[in-house]
Amino acid sequence: MPVLLCMCHLFDTHCHLTHPPLRQQLPQILTQAALQKVTRFLVPATGPEDWSAIIRLKQQYRSVSMALGIHPWYIKPHHKPALECLIQHLVQHPDALVGEIGLDFHVAKEDKAKQNQKIFFEDQLSIARQYQRPVVIHHVRASFACIDSIQRCGFKYGGFAHAFSGSVQEAQKWHQLGFMVGIGSLLLNPKAQKIRRTVAELPLDYMVLETDAPYMAPDKGVNYPANTRRIAEIVAQLRHCDWQEVASQCYQNACRYVEVTQ
Ligand SMILES: [Zn+2]
Repeated sequence: MPVLLCMCHLFDTHCHLTHPPLRQQLPQILTQAALQKVTRFLVPATGPEDWSAIIRLKQQYRSVSMALGIHPWYIKPHHKPALECLIQHLVQHPDALVGEIGLDFHVAKEDKAKQNQKIFFEDQLSIARQYQRPVVIHHVRASFACIDSIQRCGFKYGGFAHAFSGSVQEAQKWHQLGFMVGIGSLLLNPKAQKIRRTVAELPLDYMVLETDAPYMAPDKGVNYPANTRRIAEIVAQLRHCDWQEVASQCYQNACRYVEVTQ
């Protein structure tokens, strides 16, 4: 990716454009994003119900890249055969990442539920490994368990550790495994001090920007990809640099894993 092309443009590496209410007002939302220089989007799936809509969206918009997978909140026993279907989609779409997949121990408190999440996560990691795709990781209270699974599966294609909220040391661990950490809408909450301290210190080539729109709005309302600009400005403020420098570096970081043609 030549530097000039991505200069000052922002890449929202995690937004659910196929979820309501974004999908009903997509043209306006993308125009609003473009006005803030947010011009690239990685749209991860949460489950098989999402896959066809995301594939159609990707065919419709050149600015959209996709990740297909099953989110830990939504795994169901009948999803096992869906993994076969996931494989077919990956074969048909060589530019698709796998995601969002992972572990959420805030939701799964009992051992059995944790184990079930782990089985689906490791199955999908193995598929990603087999088809050599980066992954988008959802990790809540389970960062080290995710890292453990990634190592156990011998997965080496990297990707994004979404909605990162941890320390510099934790980011370092993800970096060593070939992952970027997703810095996002947590920063829109002025009370989130820990992530501010991390972002101030973290090397810029460890991170990508994301909103998780329509989720994670600080006022519990609707979040929009246009907010990637505000996130970049807060990152820049914390690091005493220009938002354009943050935008450019984070865009290039994302392009290490996402094929961009425009
Ligand atoms: Zn998400």
